[in-house]
Amino acid sequence: MTSTTSNNSYQLVVELCFESGLIVFNVVSKSFSLMAESGGGPFFSCRSCHNPLALRDDLISKKFLAKSGPAYMFSHAMNVIVGQKEDRKLITGVFSVADIYCSNCGQVLGWKYIRAYEQTQMYKQGKFIIERAKISKQNHVSLHDDIISKAFQGKHGRAFLFSHAMNVVVGAKEDRRLLTGLHTVADIHCGDCREVLGWKYVRAYEALQKYKEGKFIFEKSKIVKEDW
Ligand SMILES: [Zn+2]
Ligand SMILES: [Zn+2]
Repeated sequence: MTSTTSNNSYQLVVELCFESGLIVFNVVSKSFSLMAESGGGPFFSCRSCHNPLALRDDLISKKFLAKSGPAYMFSHAMNVIVGQKEDRKLITGVFSVADIYCSNCGQVLGWKYIRAYEQTQMYKQGKFIIERAKISKQNHVSLHDDIISKAFQGKHGRAFLFSHAMNVVVGAKEDRRLLTGLHTVADIHCGDCREVLGWKYVRAYEALQKYKEGKFIFEKSKIVKEDW
């Protein structure tokens, strides 16, 4: 599989918790890689192609309604194409709106409010409505560059050792006997959905195992590899 890069785009591989799991993929979107470099945080991506579309920090309301059902309002969206504007009669009146499409797969996602005609609706101008059925939420948990080893054993099979993790919650520490001896460990949970993703080595008791202290284990069973 290949992915393309151009001079003004960046490529980065990250690990993400994707609906209670992890996902690994190559990113060619500038806005997204800058976000990842800054530590990221939960965000919404296209359900069809995983293109990042909006940050959770930019979520204004979950109480909107679209053709397919519930929809979310965002102050900003990224990696979307804004279509032709037209006047449309919605539940709350007439607006000038433009449909928005995923810039990667072309899926219609919702619309952008271009202009409101009633005073009480003015706050919607420039905002984006994205249908809940078209998106899924993801959370960065680590950078691919931080993988130290892919040869670890987790509770559910193979696991990866990482030097760093982000957007995870570290649970209570406890002594646990692992394949390589006794360690003090703490489970790590996705900071967004709370799924257990692996553990952090808090303390190793044998000299040979000391290098693991402060490092993170992520279960491979929660990783999906993708390229686009
Ligand atoms: Zn898409
Ligand atoms: Zn999660």
